[in-house]
Amino acid sequence: MINFKNSIGRVTEQVLIAKGITDKNTLDALRKIPREKFVEESLKELSYSDAPLPIGYNQTISSTYTVALMTQSLCLNKSHKILEIGTGSGYQAAILSMLCMSVFTIERIRNLSLKARDIAGKLNVHNITFIIGDGTIGFKEYAPYDRILVTACSPDVPEALFAQLSEGGIMVMPLENGGSQNIFVIEKKNGKMCSNSIAPANFVRLIGKDGFKS
Ligand code: SAM
Repeated sequence: MINFKNSIGRVTEQVLIAKGITDKNTLDALRKIPREKFVEESLKELSYSDAPLPIGYNQTISSTYTVALMTQSLCLNKSHKILEIGTGSGYQAAILSMLCMSVFTIERIRNLSLKARDIAGKLNVHNITFIIGDGTIGFKEYAPYDRILVTACSPDVPEALFAQLSEGGIMVMPLENGGSQNIFVIEKKNGKMCSNSIAPANFVRLIGKDGFKS
């Protein structure tokens, strides 16, 4: 049982399981990484409510369920190298870091990236590389990636990201269509995209060369 102490509106293990989060490794990672460390002092008590919370700069940390769903959908193992777009608070990157070999995470807002790096250091998480820049163009230097997770909503799958995904790899990202958003699981099979919508979503926008313009 996940024991989220000192929190109002707890997200218990049963709630996550009831909503379809059954991957033991994902649940273990959620137990290990303290979500309250990634939000402002005044929001700590709300940090386990099943809602996105503000992290400054008009950005948000995703709800625990959304983090759990996206993590589980990546089907991770300890040999994987992951690219995350949208570091935000750094919470999702820290969860991923428990389940793979290495995480490269890109954030366009410098202060968010620096803060996330600082928190990861304090938690002794050392397999995350923090990059400041436009994640819609990916990070060629360490490509290909076994898994790619985009935590901001885009009108389309950015070409560079799909190019940097390994053959057989999985990308999870929210896409916007006709004003509504859905989370997609996209697999690369023989160089082609096979995608599947898994849940409605409500993410901030992916802003950059291959995303929204503002
Ligand atoms: N994964 C984050 C967490 O665990 O807190 C939540 C991410 S928040 C919903 C989306 C983030 O994507 C924001 O911090 C935003 O600044 C960032 N973002 C938007 N467009 C981006 C881009 N082109 N490249 C990198 N980051 C971007």
